[in-house]
Amino acid sequence: MGRIIAIANQKGGVGKTTTAVNLSAALAAAGKKTLIIDMDPQGNTTTGLGLDKNELEHTIYEVISDEISFNECICPNVFENLSLAPANRNLAGAEIELMTVDRMQYILKEKLHDTVENFEFIIIDCPPALGMLTVNAMTAADTVIVPIQCEFYALDGLTQLMYTIELIQKSLNPNLKIEGAVFTMYDARTNLSLQVVENVKSYLNQNIYKTIIPRNVRLAEAPSHGLPINVYDPKSVGAESYQMLAEEVISNGGKEQ
Ligand code: ADP
Ligand code: MG
Repeated sequence: MGRIIAIANQKGGVGKTTTAVNLSAALAAAGKKTLIIDMDPQGNTTTGLGLDKNELEHTIYEVISDEISFNECICPNVFENLSLAPANRNLAGAEIELMTVDRMQYILKEKLHDTVENFEFIIIDCPPALGMLTVNAMTAADTVIVPIQCEFYALDGLTQLMYTIELIQKSLNPNLKIEGAVFTMYDARTNLSLQVVENVKSYLNQNIYKTIIPRNVRLAEAPSHGLPINVYDPKSVGAESYQMLAEEVISNGGKEQ
């Protein structure tokens, strides 16, 4: 059975998609059969892996609106060992449509059921909101990884995110665990990044990955080439750090808390 990990933080621009894409690619490169699910109507994961989001016949939207099975939306092996369940702006409609469906929080979990055994890791890139798409992701997931951008406002919203995770643990998914928080866009030249890391560590009573993702321009460039960092520039510090993060995720084995 694959481990299902949601990458979530309701703040935009903190590195969710960058982490989802490059962690998935690093897991795949380590020989783990990996599926990445794009749950964001912006479809950045989809374009970041080289697909034209406007040319897709089958996306996660058709899965959620019950037109196709989960397996039908999967683009197999977009890179070796890495398959993609893509999304585009149609998915924005699902947020509303789900409101009228029975057991609306469980749709993704139920749809994924037959797919889980085909992969070792399933990584879900969440949208920047705590709406029904994120709730579906967290209900389907075994664990959550929270990317935290090393900036002054890093703590803003974390309380709300932790509270949402608690609510989901109490009702929809009692087995959900926080896999860990990962710092992103760390800038070693500023004291601010260091301070943010210290502040968040003392505030968050959670696992924090030892790997800290530095600010690295190659990570920002890679999506415009439709490539994960380990293909675009395998020697970059960005590629190295996501590989280290993948090693930590693999060795955590989902049992940490
Ligand atoms: P989110 O999915 O949380 O909105 P993204 O992963 O899209 O965040 O990141 C926001 C922006 O920051 C993107 O332009 C991305 O390329 C850039 N970015 C993310 N992580 C890094 C990093 N470690 N170094 C440099 N740029 C980064
Ligand atoms: Mg994103």
